[in-house]
Parts: sequence; C-alpha cells; structure tokens
Amino acid sequence: FLPHLVASIEEVEETYVMVKPDGVQRGLVGDIISRFEKKGFLLKGLKLFQCPKELAEEHYKELKDKSFYPKLIKYITSGPVVCMAWEGIGVVASARKLIGATNPLQADPGTIRGDLAVQTGRNVVHGSDSPDNGHREIDLWFKQDELCEWVPAQEPWLKE
Ligand code: UDP
Repeated sequence: FLPHLVASIEEVEETYVMVKPDGVQRGLVGDIISRFEKKGFLLKGLKLFQCPKELAEEHYKELKDKSFYPKLIKYITSGPVVCMAWEGIGVVASARKLIGATNPLQADPGTIRGDLAVQTGRNVVHGSDSPDNGHREIDLWFKQDELCEWVPAQEPWLKE
C-alpha cells in the first residue's frame, strides 16, 4: 500500500447536479453554479430545461413507492430546471457535501441547502448519490452533443 499514490489512482467521476424549479424561480441559479465553479470542478454540460413528466419519473424511479413521490414529480416539472454535468476526482461525494443534507433545516450552514432553503420539499438542488447514478443521470438528462470535453485555462493552478 503506497499512500502517496492514492491521489493519482483515484478515479475521475462525473455527477449530475440540477437546480430545481424553486431555485430557478428564486433567482439562485448563479449562486449555485458559482459554488461548484469556484470549488474547481469541471463543467461539462449546462442547460435550462423544462422537464417532461416521463423524465422526472425515470429520474426518481427509486422513490416510486414513497408517499411524497407524486408531489415530487409535480415539483420537478412545475417550471424550468438548470441541468449540469460536473467532472472531477471525488466530485460525487464532494458535490453532496456542497449541497448539504436532504432536509435543509438539518443541512450545515455553508452548504447550498443550509444557506438557501427551509423545507425538504423545496430544497433547491439535486446531486447524484453515487458514481453509477452520476453516469446514469447525465445520460438521462443530456444528449451526447450537449457535453463538452475541454481543459480549462486554470488547470495547472488547480492540480499539481
Ligand atoms: N423528498 C421529499 N420529501 C421527503 C424526502 C425527499 O419531498 O420526505 C424529495 C426532496 O426534493 C429530495 C428528493 O425527494 O431532494 C429526493 O430524495 P432523496 O432521499 O434522494 O434526497 P437527496 O438525494 O435529494 O438529498
């Protein structure tokens, strides 16, 4: 085991982050994008999008049997969302930390939900909960030609 090599063998991940309709309606899009951008993750896809019911149902299919599911589908389709694909080492867990706990009242100050929301049913942002779901959700929400492979100018100043 060579601890000094761990960073170099950690895998590059991708995660799907979405500003939900309440975040868009409340004018929080810039603030939310900015947090991921300033952290140093790589933006690979970005669009404003009115989510059809079928897509919302597919995205949240694991929650199909929950009592809040019908309200969740109504919420996610109630207005435009902002879809983002972010890439980076450890981006899935890190994005979840930046987003904060599902219930905004339990989310730490400094997180998006901790700073900007008060109710679970209006928690302004989504982030994939595993690398597999990151791939699955990016495939679901983006067409291949909506994603860019690029190297930002700041790259040498972010990574040694
Ligand atoms: N949700 C809700 N009521 C609940 C639990 C969840 O309305 O009691 C909504 C909320 O918008 C949440 C989404 O369902 O973000 C997905 O739930 P999950 O448990 O996957 O939370 P997340 O991964 O978004 O933190």
